[in-house]
Amino acid sequence: MSLIVQKFGGSSVKDAQRIRNVAGIIAETYLEGNDVLVVLSAQGDTTDDLIAKAEEINPHASKREMDMLLSTGEQISVALCAMALESMGLPCISLAAWQVGIHSTSVHSDARIRKIDTERIQAELDQHRIVIVTGFQGVDRSGDVTTLGRGGSDTSAVALAAAFRASLCQIYTDVDGVYTTDPRIVSNARKLEEITYDEMLELASQGAQVLHNRSVELAKKFRVNLEVVSSLERKPGTKVKEVTKVEKTNIAGVAKDTSIARVALVGLQHNPGVAFQVFDLLSKHNINVDVILQSIGREDTKDITFTIHKKDLEEAEDVLNEHKDALRFDHIEADEHIGKVSIVGAGLMSNCGVAAKMFEALYEAGINIQMINTSEIRVSVLLDEEDVNRAVKAIHAKFFDET
Ligand code: ADP
Ligand code: ASP
Ligand code: MG
Repeated sequence: MSLIVQKFGGSSVKDAQRIRNVAGIIAETYLEGNDVLVVLSAQGDTTDDLIAKAEEINPHASKREMDMLLSTGEQISVALCAMALESMGLPCISLAAWQVGIHSTSVHSDARIRKIDTERIQAELDQHRIVIVTGFQGVDRSGDVTTLGRGGSDTSAVALAAAFRASLCQIYTDVDGVYTTDPRIVSNARKLEEITYDEMLELASQGAQVLHNRSVELAKKFRVNLEVVSSLERKPGTKVKEVTKVEKTNIAGVAKDTSIARVALVGLQHNPGVAFQVFDLLSKHNINVDVILQSIGREDTKDITFTIHKKDLEEAEDVLNEHKDALRFDHIEADEHIGKVSIVGAGLMSNCGVAAKMFEALYEAGINIQMINTSEIRVSVLLDEEDVNRAVKAIHAKFFDET
């Protein structure tokens, strides 16, 4: 008997009808003779609605209390789904992450899974029950509920698939696979039959929210057999794997991220250790830094510019200003109206024409590049936020319409 993990996202469980639809998919898999472990997100826009409710009361609520609040969304979904399966006469049980023992770090709102206890779920599976677990959350050493970052239910599913050595981990969503770019921005984006873990990881890290980036990281590490499929239509999705059969002559896709902000520390001393002090300080506050640029300033000073998540901007400015005397910078310039567009493809950097082609597309569209950043399989550009969608369309057309 094989174990299949099935994860359903917010839009797939948004109302009673969709929950019944999901229960139908689960039932079919179970009645084919598989063990089924289900992971659910909160219904529709529940997580956003809960954030809005919190803001009405206290816009500076602590992350611990936010996690306490946001974790309720997933709890509603699992109970309702279990009720739908019960009504079909199928044996099932819903469990919150703390009941399972999904142990995480204590970094509220951005916790990482440390380990998963398998006893409780295994006991339920041994009773031939369908087990439905809350996605997006864990429990820390003090027994407090944590959340894994927006979109984190994908990571819960892959972590469970790895812990139980599932034969397959299916991510059911509102698109029928991974496309060459967000099909909601570019209507002629192409569906990929398969994509490598590395390419998917870069796309997800650069904003393609179809999979949470940490889920791909875990899938690669534990060789989880992962696929993205539609919960609304029965058709083949996209397989995410180590090696893909098609030889790459093109890029895999284009991603965009408008959730970032740019911070510039202007007028830093040009001494050894300055960059270390700045980024050590930010890392101690769990603020992730992405693109970094250091440039020569005026009169023996330097500027360090970097990008962070918009949600961390206020905290980053506060922390840096608190240490202004020690860091000895002149002032901070912050810009929230920026975005990043990236192209991703295996072997991209060994093909020097690819970056030029991306820049040509931007030039032809009259779009200014603020910063450039590359990895072995990615080229990213920082742009004005208002140019982002136009840039995605122009770059996608350049790579996919002319081939
Ligand atoms: P879920 O609620 O199921 O977790 P998400 O909204 O998190 O769904 O992710 C699915 C969405 O990801 C799609 O509706 C699509 O707009 C977006 N998306 C962004 N980039 C891509 C891509 N390259 N391929 C497919 N979907 C993408
Ligand atoms: N409900 C959470 C969110 O909206 C987690 C998820 O959907 O994966 O971010
Ligand atoms: Mg998601």
